[in-house]
Amino acid sequence: MDARKNKAQLKPDLKRVFQALDFVGKHLNGRRPPKATQQLYFNVYQVLGLAWEFLGLQCKHWDGYKRSRDGKQVCRICGKLKGVQERLFLLADSGMKRIGRRAAPTSKETFANKSKAQIVHDQMVFHGAFLDVDVHNSYKSSLFGKDHEITVAADRTVTLKESGIKCSVDEHVIDLKIEERPTTQKPPYGGFPWELSKEKLKHFPVIFRFDDNYRFLGLTIIRPVKKL
Ligand SMILES: [Zn+2]
Repeated sequence: MDARKNKAQLKPDLKRVFQALDFVGKHLNGRRPPKATQQLYFNVYQVLGLAWEFLGLQCKHWDGYKRSRDGKQVCRICGKLKGVQERLFLLADSGMKRIGRRAAPTSKETFANKSKAQIVHDQMVFHGAFLDVDVHNSYKSSLFGKDHEITVAADRTVTLKESGIKCSVDEHVIDLKIEERPTTQKPPYGGFPWELSKEKLKHFPVIFRFDDNYRFLGLTIIRPVKKL
């Protein structure tokens, strides 16, 4: 079931919240109630504000905007300002969840640093799996010192971490790492399969997927059995 409300359901709900906000607001600003009561009114006002925020997230601003007294464009139904970015997301309990749109690099320019080149960098933990999306334009990096400035290419990198496996996908590389504690101090080796002998290859439980023309279609890795 979709948790989102439609216009007919949302309008009266929002109206009730606005009436309640007005009511509490009058008590807050009116004759001074005792301090404890004032605090209580304040708390109720805050909670109603949250309800407004929550209901407003479901508003599609169906009836357009009107000009407020200070000249701003305000939704006729939920009272939110036009074009202001939402700080919260509303996600349905069941069904597909969507946050944000697919972002890609937007410029051919090389920016002075990563924060100027950044388009999106967001992370979430979804039912125990960690997901990171990093989209940026090209930028200069002095990671190796001022004299060794390098240009980092524009890219979109999506990383998933799940049960000790880290998989990153970007424009050029699909990178998969088994995040195990290193047994030696040496950095790991890397090589194409044809550089290794058949004997050595037997250490790697990898199955290549390909068609009649030996077009690469993917691979399957059999996970090593964990020694307890
Ligand atoms: Zn609205």
